[in-house]
Amino acid sequence: MHGMGRAATKLGAVLATALLAAGPQSVRAQDHAASASQAVSDNCTRSTFRIVVDVGHTLDVPGAMSARGVPEYSFNLQLAREIKQALVDAGFEQAVLLITGTAPWRGLFERAARANAMHADLFISIHHDSVPDNLKQIWEYAGQKNEFNDDYPGYAIFISNDNADRAGSLLFGSMLGHELERRNLHYTPHYTLALMGHRRRILVDADAGVYRYDQLIVLRATKMPAVLLEAGSIVNRQEELELATPERRSLTSAAIAAAVANFCAARARPPVVKAAISGH
Ligand SMILES: [Zn+2]
Repeated sequence: MHGMGRAATKLGAVLATALLAAGPQSVRAQDHAASASQAVSDNCTRSTFRIVVDVGHTLDVPGAMSARGVPEYSFNLQLAREIKQALVDAGFEQAVLLITGTAPWRGLFERAARANAMHADLFISIHHDSVPDNLKQIWEYAGQKNEFNDDYPGYAIFISNDNADRAGSLLFGSMLGHELERRNLHYTPHYTLALMGHRRRILVDADAGVYRYDQLIVLRATKMPAVLLEAGSIVNRQEELELATPERRSLTSAAIAAAVANFCAARARPPVVKAAISGH
């Protein structure tokens, strides 16, 4: 410890000397560099930008069941916690986890009402996917009969055209899909298939995997841009194993943090173009 203290003092003295020797020119150069980086960056104030990370389902009504009998809620909770932490680490200190014990439908409206009351800037609902019952097969795992479907791995992003800010929802959904694809995660196209019946959806961004699902309560009752992310399929026996790893969770969390940073920056740009358009 003493040795380190001396070394630190010595280093401080060396730095001070270097700064004195460099003189005022170097200070101006530093100022110039700082203002240049400000000009090319954005006006997004991460510390005040509030993101609600909604944990899909509840402890008592836990959503889908994985191929190995683990309820969706526990996947959602673990991933959402890591997403919130990734956002805080990226400077989005106001990111909050939204957990409710209230069952649907009341619980769904409650989530939206809480996000609205918080005046959140962005709402992200975290889920893990399954398939309709008629597409499930039976297998035995750990002595139990479980249901699975190995055909449709991948994430899916949903937005609602009934959301108060549908343009913002689509913009964020597209940014998120691109960040996931950049990390070699791919969306599932199966929501466009006829076999999905009434669960068939319109693919509104075929590069990013953004679907339209107008009726989702948490998306249409929220007043801020809102998306629902199915992070992957837990009825897919291979993808379920991947989704349970820290590596996969960290890829998804990093994609969300990057997309939120892009979105906050896009929203913070001076509204010159927007004003010109709305003038007509
Ligand atoms: Zn779900």
